[in-house]
Amino acid sequence: MSRQPAYSRTSSRTPNPHAGMSYTDEVRMGQASPPIEPSIIKFPSATGARRDKNDSRINDRIAEGRALAPRNAQMTQELAATPGSPEFIAELAARSQELEGASPTEILRWAAGRYAPGLTMGTAFGPEGMCLIHMLAQVAPQTIIFNLETGYQFPETLALVERVHERYGIAIQLERPEQTVEEYEKIHGGPLYKINPDQCCMDRKLRVLERVAKGKSAWISAIRRDQSPDRSVASIVGWDKKFGLVKVNPLVNWTKQDVWKLITQENIPYNPLHDQGYTSIGCWPCTRSVLFGEDERAGRWSGTAKTECGLHKAD
Ligand code: SF4
Repeated sequence: MSRQPAYSRTSSRTPNPHAGMSYTDEVRMGQASPPIEPSIIKFPSATGARRDKNDSRINDRIAEGRALAPRNAQMTQELAATPGSPEFIAELAARSQELEGASPTEILRWAAGRYAPGLTMGTAFGPEGMCLIHMLAQVAPQTIIFNLETGYQFPETLALVERVHERYGIAIQLERPEQTVEEYEKIHGGPLYKINPDQCCMDRKLRVLERVAKGKSAWISAIRRDQSPDRSVASIVGWDKKFGLVKVNPLVNWTKQDVWKLITQENIPYNPLHDQGYTSIGCWPCTRSVLFGEDERAGRWSGTAKTECGLHKAD
């Protein structure tokens, strides 16, 4: 797959963050973000912020135990349908369509009301994930949040575990592969990411998520549709057959500007590597900073055809 497809992930709405200043600097100076919909960044009364009309409506329905209640008899079958069955998937699609107009906080409330305590969230502490952690801390702080600790992450990334705990009182669970990096590289005669990154991601990310998924009903991811062609078709709610979980993507309709605007406004912790040109951060061997005009994810597996670790790829 070409890393610079016709589908451009860098548009006039996504100014490059390295034109002489950090992205957050641009946001602070009012140069980066188009107006964000007020309803998107409203939080519930826990923050003292005024709730928007939709939040109020959704909260009322949650309080009555019928959050986003099925609108017809067919939709009520969703609760009874076998996970993964055609009926189940069809009902998720209908629900996803219904949630297209909802804000991320509304989607998270719906997901928590529907799937907790079987709801979990995976994060690599990207800016989108930090926004979701911020929202979950307010609408569903009991949600189990985990990080796939491959053993190859940047120290700056892992430092966010403590920063999240300090800010929100949330203890991120680090989920590790069975083999340490040393054991793994010994088995393979060296770093596998150099010769077979797909297998490395499979062993150190996907297999771990498969283990985490056991006993869960749904997981939250922080992907945005405008990040890549693969992600452009993501639904808000769908069936992730790879892991046997419902997948909830509250930020699919957000832009990079929306994300950084919220981070700036709410002073949300973020990875300091973003201010050094790392727009998308994964494991250190497979991540580089990007140059002016490059795609947001151009620094991931740079120089190879690989664009995704596989967690968010449809089968
Ligand atoms: S991103 Fe690189 S180092 Fe990390 S699991 Fe994948 S191939 Fe291995």
